Amino acid sequence: MSAGKLIVVTGPSGVGKGTLLQKLLERYPDRLIFSISATTRSPRTGEEHGREYFFWDRAEFEQKRDAGEFLESAEYAGNLYGTPRQPIDQAIALGKIVILEIELEGARQVAQSFPDAQRIFIAPPSMEILESRLRDRSTDSEAQITKRLHHAKLEIAAANEFNITIINDDLAIALQQLEKALFHD
Ligand code: 5GP
Repeated sequence: MSAGKLIVVTGPSGVGKGTLLQKLLERYPDRLIFSISATTRSPRTGEEHGREYFFWDRAEFEQKRDAGEFLESAEYAGNLYGTPRQPIDQAIALGKIVILEIELEGARQVAQSFPDAQRIFIAPPSMEILESRLRDRSTDSEAQITKRLHHAKLEIAAANEFNITIINDDLAIALQQLEKALFHD
């Protein structure tokens, strides 16, 4: 059995990470596992507890975090997000490629605790395009969009901390580059 590995995918909100990763999972359902994060933010329409996220309240999240149950955790746009540790250890032991889709602070923590993890940054073609994608998705309030754009600038400035940057302009090309990074690099 091949050894499992940990892949961190980071990129600003609205860059299209979700779509890209969903396509990847459709192609390699047996080899990939996506970590299900926990968050204190409210579910968006269509999101389900235990599928997109574990939606925990702050007290529950903090209690688990303080008990060491997270591989990493961070505050983002006023909410806490974290990766439950146990399912990750289990999937790696089973030889799976485990994908964490997390923001910059979390990616930095994983770089410390799992230096062998491959870290991939997904960048937008431009800030203007990112802003229009965030607005078109219309899932977030104006205040949330402002916070997310602010965070996006910080994240893009840190792209050089990652092993590879993929620009999500054309979805098919970005997907090809992601596959190459995962399976051939
Ligand atoms: P959203 O609220 O749009 O689902 O996610 C906001 C940000 O939180 C995104 O950049 C996403 O990658 C990040 N995120 C999701 N889960 C986690 C996690 O478990 N840990 C960290 N550090 N960031 C996360």
